[in-house]
Amino acid sequence: MRRRLILKMIPAGVLAGLPTFAGAARAAGLVPAFRGTPRIAVGGIASECSTYSRIRARMEDLTVLRGQDVFKAPLSLPLQRYETPFLPTLTASAPSGGPVERQTYETLKADYLERLKKLLPLDGVYLMMHGALSVEGMDDAEGDWYEATRAVVGPDCLISAYYDLHGNLSRRAVDTLDAMTAYRTAPHVDRVENVMRATDMLTHCLRYGLRPGIVWASIPALLPGEQSSTEWEPGRRLWADLSEYNRLPGILDVSQLVGYVWADEPRAAASVVTTGTNIEEQTRIVTELAARYWDARHEFHFDSPMGTIEECLSRAMVSVTHPVVISDSGDNPGGGGNSDQTFFLQALLKAGTKDVLLGGMTDRPATDACYRAGVGATLPLSIGATLDPLMCRPVHVKKAVVKHLTAVTRPEDGEAVVEFDGITATLSARRRLYHSAESFRDMGVDPAQFKIVVLKCGYLHPTMKVLANPALMALSPGAINQDILHIGNRRRRPTWPWVPDLAWTPEPYISARFRRG
Ligand SMILES: [Zn+2]
Repeated sequence: MRRRLILKMIPAGVLAGLPTFAGAARAAGLVPAFRGTPRIAVGGIASECSTYSRIRARMEDLTVLRGQDVFKAPLSLPLQRYETPFLPTLTASAPSGGPVERQTYETLKADYLERLKKLLPLDGVYLMMHGALSVEGMDDAEGDWYEATRAVVGPDCLISAYYDLHGNLSRRAVDTLDAMTAYRTAPHVDRVENVMRATDMLTHCLRYGLRPGIVWASIPALLPGEQSSTEWEPGRRLWADLSEYNRLPGILDVSQLVGYVWADEPRAAASVVTTGTNIEEQTRIVTELAARYWDARHEFHFDSPMGTIEECLSRAMVSVTHPVVISDSGDNPGGGGNSDQTFFLQALLKAGTKDVLLGGMTDRPATDACYRAGVGATLPLSIGATLDPLMCRPVHVKKAVVKHLTAVTRPEDGEAVVEFDGITATLSARRRLYHSAESFRDMGVDPAQFKIVVLKCGYLHPTMKVLANPALMALSPGAINQDILHIGNRRRRPTWPWVPDLAWTPEPYISARFRRG
């Protein structure tokens, strides 16, 4: 689940107050070992790709930053805090969605490696990742990226990466990295801290001549993303004390990943992973936390009452309180859904439901048609099923009235509000999130004024949560179907909950980098 954070709004004092390792190192009597300024490259590739999606991310769908432009990314801002200049290569990121087209990935990797070679010799590499990247015809794309990086920089260079909480780890990745960390919150509100954990570890180890290593336990349990919040139990308590473990001797980082369930591949699993210089302590921590996570697996649950589309709609139509906010969770672009499915719209029309806001439908042709017609015009529209015509059928509306068009300079940024049959719908030319109340108010639509609000989202954005009266979650079909027991499951290892009586005990794995001494 990816959510933007505007770093510009973070007061400088907050960044300055983030923990660093320097003070602890001085207290421990460590003496700087590095002579001169270490050379650290920065790069990476990040996306969250559902292997159940038929959409492919092509070059034009990715944000690619090269050279000094790498520092324009909001999450690169914390790098300015270091005396050591980071040396830019290439960063690429795609919104959550389908797998990345193979040729796009190969082109980006070649560009990145070429830039990395020009920076040699390097003492460190810092990689901005996600952990749920899928590339056409390739398993474990992150592992491929790390191995290619290692082949360029050599065995002595330290590589540190950060992950999303919803990333999948592999033995190949663990055997190639020296340090890693991951978000400790869902929704992800610790993005800056995550960057700084990864970069602090790297700069600290280079400065004091430490060679950290990773100990990891893969946990064969997966959850629907919408159950993985750290705002309610058991997520709240399972992640709450990770920073306490960081204070133990020889421990640099302890992270716990939910994994990404919509990747039907062997590596998909939850993880506990530690970086440090104390194999025994790390092994103890990983064993303890992995067992704790496994024991809590039955406690994970959705935040809202859930049901099928029809069940949620029936309940909403008789509700005496409003607005009833329903998540069309299987089509949420925030987790990799298409955002062009019409199952909910079909159900609304079939039931004759009025006074409804349907937010977040992606449809480039329909949006373009609205711009051609202009505000106030009435036109026939075909809505939905343009990105994946095999998943569902479009809905043909005879008379839609254009109520709003956002002023944009590029057609791909277009967004429209249309009304038809008692339904107000937002259309956008490209896949984007319409989760907050502000995203609708910016288009002149107030979600609070509707009887029913249907959103292509999962757990609700805080600004929508305060409006919802009540909130319901529809377990709708789609690329991120939350009803995970019924998604295709061909390539995964035996994993709970598909194997309900699976017996398992933690088997900590020590990175090959660590074992080499
Ligand atoms: Zn996430």
